[in-house]
Amino acid sequence: MPLPVILADFVGLIFPKVCLACAEPLSRGEDHICTSCRAQLPYTDYHLLPADANPLARRFWGRVPVRHALSYLRFLRRGRVQHLLHQLKYRGQRDVGLVLGRWYGHDLSRQGFQFDLVVPVPLHPRKLAKRGYNQSDPFAAGLAESLGIPWQPHALRRLEHTDSQTRKNRLERWQNVAEVFETADLAVVQGKHVLVVDDVLTTGATLEACAAALLAAGAAEVSIATIASADR
Ligand SMILES: [Zn+2]
Repeated sequence: MPLPVILADFVGLIFPKVCLACAEPLSRGEDHICTSCRAQLPYTDYHLLPADANPLARRFWGRVPVRHALSYLRFLRRGRVQHLLHQLKYRGQRDVGLVLGRWYGHDLSRQGFQFDLVVPVPLHPRKLAKRGYNQSDPFAAGLAESLGIPWQPHALRRLEHTDSQTRKNRLERWQNVAEVFETADLAVVQGKHVLVVDDVLTTGATLEACAAALLAAGAAEVSIATIASADR
């Protein structure tokens, strides 16, 4: 056995790397998420459905024109997906987003999906300062890498602070976030098919507002993709 491998195993004994979904130790060759979790994650497979059969796409009908509405996983409470998202958002595990973005990008690429640019939903500057990073950035980066296209973290800007979101109904929430995104750099998005990405989709109001802002700024088309989406 070559020395670096022995050394890596030895270091692994002292600081075992664990699966970011189930917290069990990883085997050699496993990357952030163990083989068993990877096989059992609740994939939506929305990208394999015709557009009119995609339940996520239906949610945007009559709201904003979205070319493709995609989500890698189903959001289930108290399961692997919630654990993964918690690691990504609150435990500084940006690699969760990067790895899932890469895997999903490969799947989409294999199915012939094409976009020009990936744009993450921006965090409000105050939240960004508190957390230190935007949890949607690594997912955007992983997707862009696998799709072979650029990503632009500063294409959109969030204007207002929207706390108290949870106490509002969907309409109020839409009105609340509708005005808070603007395209920071028109030239970057004009004429492009932009893939807007976020960590979780619940009502879709945030992504809808981003899509509207991008289309208003001259994007040719907008698609959306999230790591996970919650069933209504
Ligand atoms: Zn696992």
